[in-house]
Amino acid sequence: MSGWLAIVGLGPGDDALVTPEVDGVLAEATDVVGYIPYVARIAPRDGLTLHASDNRVEIDRSRHALEMASQGRRVVVVSSGDPGVFAMAAAVLEAVEHGDAAWRDLDIRVLPGITAMLAAAAACGAPLGHDFCAINLSDNMKPWALIEKRLRLAAEADFAMAFYNPRSKSRPEGFGKAVKALQEACGDDRPMIFARNVSRPDQSIRIVPLSQVTEDMADMRTVVLLGSSRTRIIARDGAPLVYTPRSVDQ
Ligand code: SAH
Repeated sequence: MSGWLAIVGLGPGDDALVTPEVDGVLAEATDVVGYIPYVARIAPRDGLTLHASDNRVEIDRSRHALEMASQGRRVVVVSSGDPGVFAMAAAVLEAVEHGDAAWRDLDIRVLPGITAMLAAAAACGAPLGHDFCAINLSDNMKPWALIEKRLRLAAEADFAMAFYNPRSKSRPEGFGKAVKALQEACGDDRPMIFARNVSRPDQSIRIVPLSQVTEDMADMRTVVLLGSSRTRIIARDGAPLVYTPRSVDQ
């Protein structure tokens, strides 16, 4: 039996948001590899070995998965959301590029999932309905100066924005610095959306004008969206609807 490796996204949390394609490879897998809370989402069964590891060991985890696949096992590497968005797919491909030449001949597939920003956008309307960009606010993998530069240029280009990894215990000051840079660069007010635990039972969506945002509003379970200068809020009795019109006048 020849082995394979699938790098999959489990979506933002709700089982209904796992694609049938991903459920299909999980049903055939002999091994599941990933960060502890993501592997915890996989139901144990006979013939399936779960390999949960701590964060920050992505390259070791990738090599382990590739080694098992080359020994003939059917391996699934799990990420939350989409595996290509600040997650394991690029880590595994980095290991392939720099690792054992035989790994290039393996059957390697990347299966998409619903990423947090899209689930969050859907939960409040269509704030990403026109052009947008996604920025990881963690400076574990890049210098802070580059993050600030991208924030300023995205504001200048009037993109709506999605921010992943906004604030952690080890970097409590980063989100406050990002908000300050955005307040200066945007020059006008616009809605910032704090979408926490999207698609989970304790989901919360909070919409705050950028001028009134404070750094404690985000944590690592939050994806933050920022409207463009054209983003609208439709007030109504229930939760408001936020959207960015599809067109800009010619
Ligand atoms: N690959 C994932 C992102 C991993 S980075 C994806 O495509 O969604 C981890 C960050 O994703 C978190 O800090 C948070 O900003 C965001 N995130 C992931 N799941 C989330 C959820 N259910 N609700 C809100 N934010 C989420």
